[in-house]
Amino acid sequence: MSNKPSLSIIIPVYNEGENVFELYNELSGNLLQLNKTYEIIFIDDGSTDNTFEEIKKIKDERVKIVQFQRNCGKAAALSCGFKKAEGDMVITMDGDLQDDPKEIPRFLEKLNEYDMVSGWKFERHDPISKTLPSKFFNKLTRFLTGVNINDFNCGYKAYRNYVVKNISVYGEFHRYIPALAHWKGYTVGEIKVEHHPRIHGKSKYGIERLLKGFLDLITVTFLMMYKKRPLHVFGGIGFTFGLSGTVICMYLLSLWIMGTTIGDRPLLMLGILFMVIGVQFISLGLIGELITNDRNNDDYIIKYDSYELDTNY
Ligand code: UDP
Ligand code: MG
Repeated sequence: MSNKPSLSIIIPVYNEGENVFELYNELSGNLLQLNKTYEIIFIDDGSTDNTFEEIKKIKDERVKIVQFQRNCGKAAALSCGFKKAEGDMVITMDGDLQDDPKEIPRFLEKLNEYDMVSGWKFERHDPISKTLPSKFFNKLTRFLTGVNINDFNCGYKAYRNYVVKNISVYGEFHRYIPALAHWKGYTVGEIKVEHHPRIHGKSKYGIERLLKGFLDLITVTFLMMYKKRPLHVFGGIGFTFGLSGTVICMYLLSLWIMGTTIGDRPLLMLGILFMVIGVQFISLGLIGELITNDRNNDDYIIKYDSYELDTNY
């Protein structure tokens, strides 16, 4: 019989030395009641405090730990956890005791209806400098990505195993996992979760997350929409510029043929500029196509395949 657990809990931790043991205790208490086999995977994201030692002290073979050489960010930690997770159901949560383990049964129940379920910190216990920008960020992300949930950045989420194996999270894309999953064709649900104030340690994210988050939103949107067809976006812009430039230059050419001097016309500069910009954009699109073509990785995920009857997707 395989000893594969049925539930994997992934916890990225960076300088959470004061929190990990308490979290383990609370978590175990809740998980034992579930009557499921489970594993708890701590990813120590290059902590410089005693986080690693504190986790090592836990004597429980269900607790796994991966330590990064240096701090690589929450997305990298999650990505590593996703690779390791063996359970059919996977839950991610923060390691700072802000996410309450008692919500796990509700997550699992909702996971019967959806491929992934995202937590919504309905009553958030964070300073206003965080909650206000977050409201704006969530509205914009909802609008741009088309995923209808209220809280993208909640670390508390549940997934079916095939979802975590099929999405790639890097950079700071952990904020956009629901969008990444949605674009792959998975269904995304949401439940309200209780959120506690942080008691030990401090938040790892400051105001700079706003700008980074916004830039990432542009990247994510762009990647999802045009990754497989870069020329469609760059070519479109290039064509518009190129055509405007050509029309301007043709007009000036006709004036020149009729005997007017055009060398001192600022319009000439504009026409030439537009044509050059047009060529630039089209070339950029073609380079994009070259890169996409070269990688040639399939974009589809197979749900059922009669060639592989024994495979359980
Ligand atoms: N975290 C991490 N690597 C980082 C920053 C944060 O693994 O570079 C972890 C952190 O230890 C915590 C979770 O990600 O478990 C959420 O971080 P934090 O509580 O600072 O974020 P906030 O709640 O302020 O959004
Ligand atoms: Mg936190």
